[in-house]
Amino acid sequence: MPIDLRSDTVTRPTPAMLEAMMQARVGDDVFGEDPSINQLERMTAQLFGMEAALYCPTGTMSNQIAIKCHTRPGDEVICEKEAHVYIYEGGGIAFNSGAQVRTIEGDRGRITAGQVSRSINPDDVHKASTSLVCLENTCNRGGGSCYDLEEIKKIRQVCSDNQLQLHLDGARLFNALSATGQQPADYGRLFDSISVCFNKGMGCPIGSVLLGSAAFIRQARRVRKVLGGGMRQAGFMAAAGIYALEHHRERLTEDHAHARQLAEALAKKDFVSAIKPVETNIVIFETTSDICTKDLAQRLKEQDVLAIPISDSQVRFVTHLDITPAMVDRVVEVIEQL
Ligand SMILES: *Cc1c(COP(=O)(O)O)cnc(C)c1O
Repeated sequence: MPIDLRSDTVTRPTPAMLEAMMQARVGDDVFGEDPSINQLERMTAQLFGMEAALYCPTGTMSNQIAIKCHTRPGDEVICEKEAHVYIYEGGGIAFNSGAQVRTIEGDRGRITAGQVSRSINPDDVHKASTSLVCLENTCNRGGGSCYDLEEIKKIRQVCSDNQLQLHLDGARLFNALSATGQQPADYGRLFDSISVCFNKGMGCPIGSVLLGSAAFIRQARRVRKVLGGGMRQAGFMAAAGIYALEHHRERLTEDHAHARQLAEALAKKDFVSAIKPVETNIVIFETTSDICTKDLAQRLKEQDVLAIPISDSQVRFVTHLDITPAMVDRVVEVIEQL
């Protein structure tokens, strides 16, 4: 078996998680009758101190539903230039919501209140109406970087002053909480909506939860149905999410320590010209100009180590539930011999 560091989405359910799934009580969720989904929605909403929640098959669907609910066709959405909602969701903002995007160049994916403020269109018939700001935490393309809560508070203020909605793509929010010690309720207070993924660091086979006010989630439930995301006895999957909330949050620190170990090994290599600061479970490194990142990934693959060349000069490692300490030691050895 190769050591798969391509993404934290490649995990398989553990035997204990599978057991929890097998024991799940289920019902028809379109009728609101799946006890496991209802429980996961309740638990997640309570954790973040938000009124209501909606279980969705993917993080992409959660984000797209949120954007649809917060905008009208022709509106403008503000986000960072490498935000997942913009570059990795198939043009969904245009496709699903008929909205356009104003991108901001952030610092490792993080934008500031000043930048948001300067990107809001004036009330002018020539301009699209700015209605939504999307943040991402941790920032995927930023190398798993985490937001400072103080900056988010300032962004919240700018949004409130300008009648803008604020959505958080929190696909890896549990990693950010674990790394920073910030509290889930801090986020619940600041955002109009939050999506969190269970199919990443939490180690579930599928699933995401969208959080917001009761009125927002009522509307979101409608949009989920329109998108074909109204599932029936999906409580088997939600049971994995409940299990993960109870058992997989604390262990995220192990993934983060593993990522730091990989970064330390990389730092000693001449072919590595820079490494983005490792804050969570993602390591993105820059190679010197003589190195082709596709070739480098191929050489790693020959040693049974899988990584993704995310650009001509950058390679990404992601640590996760299925990466053991012994595997990290082995990857360090492989890196030393490159
Ligand atoms: C993975 C990811 C998502 C959602 O991905 P799905 O595969 O659709 O669940 C959203 N945002 C970010 C930042 C991600 O990394």
